Amino acid sequence: MPSPFFAFAASLPSPSFLPPHHRRSLRTIKTLVESTAGSRPTSALPPPIESLHRGNWVKLICGASFEDAVDVRNLSLVYTLAGVDCIDCAADASVVNAVNEGIDAAMSIAAVQRPWVMISVNDDKEDLHFRKAEFDPGDCPLDCARPCEVVCPANAISLERVTVGNELAGNANASGKLQVGVITERCYGCGRCFSICPYDKIRAITYVRDPSTTSKLLKRNDVDAIEIHTSGRCTDLFNELWNRLGDSIDHVKLVAVSMPDVGESTVAVMKMIYSIMESHLQCYNLWQLDGRPMSGDIGGGATREAIAFAVHLASTLDKPCGFYQLAGGTNSHTINHLKKVGLFQTTAISGHSSDISGAAQSTGFKEALIGGIAYGGYARKIVGRVLRKMPTQHGHPKIEDHPDHFLEALQEALTLVGPVKCYSMPFVLPKQMTSV
Ligand code: SF4
Ligand code: SF4
Repeated sequence: MPSPFFAFAASLPSPSFLPPHHRRSLRTIKTLVESTAGSRPTSALPPPIESLHRGNWVKLICGASFEDAVDVRNLSLVYTLAGVDCIDCAADASVVNAVNEGIDAAMSIAAVQRPWVMISVNDDKEDLHFRKAEFDPGDCPLDCARPCEVVCPANAISLERVTVGNELAGNANASGKLQVGVITERCYGCGRCFSICPYDKIRAITYVRDPSTTSKLLKRNDVDAIEIHTSGRCTDLFNELWNRLGDSIDHVKLVAVSMPDVGESTVAVMKMIYSIMESHLQCYNLWQLDGRPMSGDIGGGATREAIAFAVHLASTLDKPCGFYQLAGGTNSHTINHLKKVGLFQTTAISGHSSDISGAAQSTGFKEALIGGIAYGGYARKIVGRVLRKMPTQHGHPKIEDHPDHFLEALQEALTLVGPVKCYSMPFVLPKQMTSV
């Protein structure tokens, strides 16, 4: 007798215009998603805020400088289906469009909660998320082993040798050179290529997002939140940016401030920043505790700094108002580290409640000190390696047009998001469901 899971999958309607195996895959995905990450009855609070209260908020970081619209769209689609609460992206209109396109596509496939769209900006050039690598490939020695290409986690460096002169005809004067170099929209500034170049050819180009462009984006209906990255060393530039954003801040539901742990002065700086925002803050606020930026894909240990930051804040009695969320080096190990230090305090969502305090009483949880986790490089890596396998000969590939890759990418995303959300369904698909 088939399990209820398979019986339900078989009963779902299929769009008739798709090939049969594609229809089966979409049915499988719809079933998988609605059994795990699908919309559930919640409190009267906006679902992302309820997640922050419960400690099971998950944010996908597309990357403050990552502007590849095709990847951003597909990542947004997959992680929306996996149930993230928020998608954080570059403060650029075409990237925001791509995020929303991915979310819309996901919502047309399964009944999931719409994640909030957050744009990331900076107040100075110190934050590493706001830089791009640059070099002239024509200056690179032809015999260079090209370690820059290998080390780049974003496939943002491409080097093609072209012939200058009649090399093929055996012309002694013929030579070659390299071209392309950094694919700017894919570079998110991780910096790994800078030190690996044996000829010191690669420069970092830093930039600050233009406040007037940011203000326009904040007024869009499809932008819900802003994150301001600050160094934590000086609040003057934060103050200046905050003033320049002016009333556009009134359009968002959440203001996040991302900063590193700057030691003993961290809490004092956070309080100063909060005092700058307070008089003009009509929405929720969140502190992104930025551990080791852009390193989650390197290995398990990369998450330690974010955990240490959380422990530091947890031991502070007089904390600034707002939710707290980890980022910077976060990966699949983060949740276990958070559990070990007693800061993963969520429970599975069950039942309906009219307000968060009622929900807290009915499920026996207190408001979580750490509201959740943001995943960046690691989240992009596990789904990105599936995206890279898609054929590209027909232009910009949409992942939902490639059923096997779609299932695989969703499975990867659920493996990361599921433990934070406490999904009860297994997120490893049985073999017979993947062989479509
Ligand atoms: S900075 Fe990072 S993402 Fe950018 S090209 Fe270098 S290695 Fe790639
Ligand atoms: S490692 Fe340096 S010299 Fe070699 S190809 Fe890359 S940028 Fe050029």
